[in-house]
Amino acid sequence: MNALAVSAPVDMAELRATLAAEAGPVHFVAGGTDMLIAGRPLPESGLLVDLARVAGMAFISTDGRDVRIGGATTVAALAADCRLRVRIPALCEAAAQCGSVQIRNRATIGGNIANAAPAADLMPVLVAVGTRLVLLKHDGTQYEAALCEYLPNSGHLITEVILPESGLLPRSAFVKLGSRQDMTISRLNLALLAEFQSNHFGVVRVAAGALGPVSSRLLRAEVALAGRKLGAATLRDFIAALVDEVDMAIPGRNSQLYKRRAVAGMGFDLIAQAMGLSPRDRLFEEAAQ
Ligand SMILES: Cc1cc2nc3c(=O)[nH]c(=O)nc-3n(C[C@H](O)[C@H](O)[C@H](O)COP(=O)(O)OP(=O)(O)OC[C@H]3O[C@@H](n4cnc5c(N)ncnc54)[C@H](O)[C@@H]3O)c2cc1C
Repeated sequence: MNALAVSAPVDMAELRATLAAEAGPVHFVAGGTDMLIAGRPLPESGLLVDLARVAGMAFISTDGRDVRIGGATTVAALAADCRLRVRIPALCEAAAQCGSVQIRNRATIGGNIANAAPAADLMPVLVAVGTRLVLLKHDGTQYEAALCEYLPNSGHLITEVILPESGLLPRSAFVKLGSRQDMTISRLNLALLAEFQSNHFGVVRVAAGALGPVSSRLLRAEVALAGRKLGAATLRDFIAALVDEVDMAIPGRNSQLYKRRAVAGMGFDLIAQAMGLSPRDRLFEEAAQ
């Protein structure tokens, strides 16, 4: 058996040439925070391509209509980018709540997507916004696909993550529930994006992680808010819809009981964050009665 070889290309041209020249299996490593952890076997043969130094794979571009993010952009860079926070605060919030400082400095958006963990924190936001990916095949062909069409084991490299203008709704929020306050893997996470004018919601997108194998939209929760006035009755319907979504996603599971209770508090936190309200606002007290 051939040993595993390692390559660390410095730019996109060298990366493409490296991929084209390799006849055997190719594996990618970016931050290594999922791939290089204890207990996970490394590939035994083929070529391991280190993405961490590829110039042109780590960038955040917010000036165009769409927001474009390089596949090897670190989670720390997402959390700290002020222009990104203006366009989509929920993504910065999700990034800020991923792991520790050390993890965020290494972890990348491409790795978060490709690792395909049900609890991955960037995913609910990316799903809610209708993300598209630019993917590179080994033969050098590049193509664009919706996030939901991406197959994590395809071996195709995520070079760019596109957040389309149509999905970048003006209000957004992200909340997560873990077994502790900091440095915790999500037991449940939620993202909300919404239009909001004259105290009324317009289009609303809600997505959750850790309720199934992949993050997904919560359509009932979206319908409960869309087009309605922000008030106690609307919030009650929203919370009831979130509880229904939990019941339908994980019926009979041990976690169902606590998640259906937790999702109510998380729903209020989500609205408070998106609307810039205090979680202690009277509105939430009224809605909880
Ligand atoms: C202590 C600890 C705490 C953590 N906390 C959190 C947390 O709170 N929230 C959270 O969401 N995650 C958390 N994680 C998981 C991890 O940090 C994230 O999933 C991270 O985004 C993975 O990125 P990476 O660059 O390190 O991926 P890597 O480990 O380098 O790669 C992971 C997988 O993705 C593939 N891959 C990487 N980049 C690409 C690409 N551009 N194109 C195609 N395939 C690619 C690799 O081949 C590999 O299969 C934690 C991990 C640890 C060890």
